[in-house]
Amino acid sequence: MEFTIKNSQEAIDLENKYGAHNYHPLPVVLSKGKGAKVWDVEGNEYFDFLSAYSAVNQGHSHPHILKALTAQAEKLTLTSRAFYNDVLGQYEEFVSKFFGFDKVLPMNTGAEAVETAIKLCRKWAYEKRGIPEDQAQIIVCDGNFHGRTTTIISFSNDPVAYENFGPYTPGFIRIPYNDLEALEAALGQDNVAGFLVEPIQGEAGVFVPDEGYLASASALCTKYNSLFIADEVQTGIARTGKLLAVDHENVKPDVLILGKALSGGVYPVSAVLANNPVMEVIQPGQHGSTYGGNPLACAVAVAALEVVQDEKLAERAEALGQQFRKRLTDFIATQDLVLKVRGKGLMNAILINDSEDSTTAWDLCVAFKENGLLAKPTHGNIIRFAPPLVMTAEQIDACCDIIEKTIAAFTKK
Ligand code: PMP
Repeated sequence: MEFTIKNSQEAIDLENKYGAHNYHPLPVVLSKGKGAKVWDVEGNEYFDFLSAYSAVNQGHSHPHILKALTAQAEKLTLTSRAFYNDVLGQYEEFVSKFFGFDKVLPMNTGAEAVETAIKLCRKWAYEKRGIPEDQAQIIVCDGNFHGRTTTIISFSNDPVAYENFGPYTPGFIRIPYNDLEALEAALGQDNVAGFLVEPIQGEAGVFVPDEGYLASASALCTKYNSLFIADEVQTGIARTGKLLAVDHENVKPDVLILGKALSGGVYPVSAVLANNPVMEVIQPGQHGSTYGGNPLACAVAVAALEVVQDEKLAERAEALGQQFRKRLTDFIATQDLVLKVRGKGLMNAILINDSEDSTTAWDLCVAFKENGLLAKPTHGNIIRFAPPLVMTAEQIDACCDIIEKTIAAFTKK
């Protein structure tokens, strides 16, 4: 089949007619990407300020990753885990050492990796902690976003995510985010096996917890012999200015969940990492996925991590993030539409002076688009800014020019 779309409306109409309406995209139809930029089918150029929800940290179509993809695709793409392949073991060694764990369990999407971590935690609870069968509890936070499976939405407090998808999976205790007292009280309850947390809450609107929260939360988990499970699907792989967001507080999670940028946006690759005492509870046949650990995914992930290291993306994110927040913080003092800019590294958001159910964030994103920058609201009054980490300082300045110009000219509907 030849793809022949030549104008945006045609593509939008097709999606509307033949695709389930499970997303509400900004009205822009992209057909090309390179580095920090994308182009629509009419040839208009944009700065990508979402990076596919932080999957494209390495920039679009990174040549090193594409080279690994095409070279491996010509050799072998999928064997399933019924047989060994000659890439998986090398990838497992590489990724385990890269993040400092004994072992990795490879999966494909972020939600699958979160499911894997939940299963791992429960099995550890019964086999290592001696928690009675079917009684294990995992602590999660208000405002969490960990994916879209039936179990994961069971512990969401966002009605859009959970409503009419019940009955829900039991076994979760939800507490306020960034609240150590609530965490200690929950850890003290019977049969609590783990604490699943985003080091910065992404979908909730880039909520950065207080300094010291992650370190104290991890110490509390150790005190109560529960697993500290960090979901770094969005915050990981250099996005926040360190390789992992937990690195800001020198925290070593018991279970680390990665996805998105583990492949640089080229292929679905996710992973759960843990040390032997936890990982060894999983035995043959108890968990898996046909595509998990396939040679194509492994080759892509190694290349994607090499880019992170070779191009010092964490250091870039740190420096560019400071530059970005400084400019926007200075700017918002001069106007009253945007109340606040917050974030870490290149994971940032602006908080708009309007209600959570207003259309202002959406309208502003449409206006950004008209001026050549693509971003997406996380709520009616919050816009996340997460550009590829390969941006230059000049490009960040050009993006700040667009953001400031658009906000200055914007009037609420
Ligand atoms: N965890 C976090 C923290 C996420 O931000 C996301 C996706 N936004 C997921 C898990 C789910 O990842 P996926 O969409 O690949 O299933």
